[in-house]
Amino acid sequence: MSAIVMDQNLMSQTQTAVATRASEATHFQVRDIHAYYGESYIVQGVSFDIREGEILALLGRNGAGKTTTLRALARLDNPTLKQGEIWLGGQAVHKMKAHEAARAGIQLVPEDRRIIPGLTVEENLQLAQVAPGRGWELDKIYSHFPRLAERRRQEGVTMSGGEQQMLAIARALARDIKLLLLDEPYEGLAPVIVQEIEKILIEIRRLGITTIIVEQNAVAALRLSDRAVILDTGEVAFTGTAAEVLDNAELRHEYLAI
Ligand code: ATP
Repeated sequence: MSAIVMDQNLMSQTQTAVATRASEATHFQVRDIHAYYGESYIVQGVSFDIREGEILALLGRNGAGKTTTLRALARLDNPTLKQGEIWLGGQAVHKMKAHEAARAGIQLVPEDRRIIPGLTVEENLQLAQVAPGRGWELDKIYSHFPRLAERRRQEGVTMSGGEQQMLAIARALARDIKLLLLDEPYEGLAPVIVQEIEKILIEIRRLGITTIIVEQNAVAALRLSDRAVILDTGEVAFTGTAAEVLDNAELRHEYLAI
């Protein structure tokens, strides 16, 4: 075999190995997780998988355990994860602390958005870029979020709810992100702003970022999502495609009251 042919073989093997590793690295698996607030047993054996670049709607009635699941996935101190495994590609997220999970690419946008008072839009974004694992640069953020570009010098907390939600998502993208966890992103927002945020989330999917969305507005979340998991008192009641939920009136009525 000539050296060139050998080199080509080696190159294609290397490319296959790199491609395999890349897809493994973004694949997210949740295996039988159990999470507690003190003695309160909330997440009771939840499992699901997400492929790279998919959007998954995590749904269920009030108190079903959706926020608690997101917090457990982001490895926040509360709740305590007492059992189960969380894998982001080959990385054992269940063994990580919150800052390690963030560094591995898991970014939680909580319901209250946590925009920092006293800082402009731009300063909020810059602060996110200080930590290791830098993501999108300001130019790229502003090209995807023109409203934020217009308001870059405005104090973040003085913006409308929709704009603050955009800032919270943009701030997650300012970190090196592989998995975006969104808790009630549409809460309190007008339908026209919901549509604007939907467009951004579709663009984020196109860029290969995986998203889990928890949302009371289940129809809006399902419209956007590839797959759905429905929780009922801390357990998985349904896993399937978003279309299956939208088409199944009984399921929607029983678990989502829609
Ligand atoms: P919602 O849309 O109402 O927030 P959810 O599905 O997100 O619903 P969780 O917020 O995960 O539900 O709450 C699940 C259960 O955990 C509820 O019974 C709630 O009262 C309880 N819970 C939530 N936070 C805490 C906490 N910090 N300490 C103790 N119990 C909590």
